[in-house]
Amino acid sequence: MKKIRFCLLGFLLLVVGCDRENTGWFLIQQIDSGTYVISEPQSSQGNSVFLITGEKEAILFDSGSGENKYESIFHIVDSLTDVPVTLLLSHFHFDHIGNVSGFDRIAIPDLLDLRIRISDKNLLKLTKEEVLTTDSVVLEISRILPVGEDIDVGNRKLRIIHTPGHSRESISVIDSINGYVFTGDLVYNGLLLIDDCQEFISSLNNVVAQTESNFKVFGSHGKPEVEYGHLLATKNAMALFSEGDYSEDSVDEINFFGSKKRLFRINDISFVVGYSDAFLDEY
Ligand SMILES: [Zn+2]
Repeated sequence: MKKIRFCLLGFLLLVVGCDRENTGWFLIQQIDSGTYVISEPQSSQGNSVFLITGEKEAILFDSGSGENKYESIFHIVDSLTDVPVTLLLSHFHFDHIGNVSGFDRIAIPDLLDLRIRISDKNLLKLTKEEVLTTDSVVLEISRILPVGEDIDVGNRKLRIIHTPGHSRESISVIDSINGYVFTGDLVYNGLLLIDDCQEFISSLNNVVAQTESNFKVFGSHGKPEVEYGHLLATKNAMALFSEGDYSEDSVDEINFFGSKKRLFRINDISFVVGYSDAFLDEY
């Protein structure tokens, strides 16, 4: 299955930090008393998800790969917090929504394109373009969370920002007080996949504008913590790309899931533009 081959992109997973616990499949890294990285180092995409807890409730930012049928993310999450957990997806790609149907509380960001698709039974049917597989996925939505304003999770405030470009519905989450930003697939340590370049650039600008250089940045693939400088380098590389200010030496033709694609390497940032049709062409 194509999911497995995605690993050939070579996400480099080096989990570092203190307060780590390894369950065999999941690697848990505690960032502070209420923030955890839950990684799956052996998953095909080297995924990480983030449990962000307040005194009242917690947000789980993505539900992981779902690739290991024997170790469940549910009991990992249960072991880390006693407050109710709401799953909020960074976006709908298959490698971020593992075991999604097992969650009681699923939120979507208040984006018009999503809100108008929710049925009167609170169901949101995801398209194959959104999931990037032929699997049919239906989310039962229990909450719609505001975008661009603080959400109080109990002595802690989180803010969702819409950061499209990797996919249309992509979001990031900012915790301004603690100085964290969780960027999903907008920025991480590894090869970036971009569908809409101008949206991607606007999203990077938006994240940089709403954060400071001392923020910790967490991406969903590879080594979870991203240097703030890497975020800035990505922003700068994309600006050069959009202006055509790069040499042809920085471009390679690659076979990407059976489609010929151009792989760009600008300022040590590697990316492919227009990747998703390669998945869809396989159906
Ligand atoms: Zn993705």
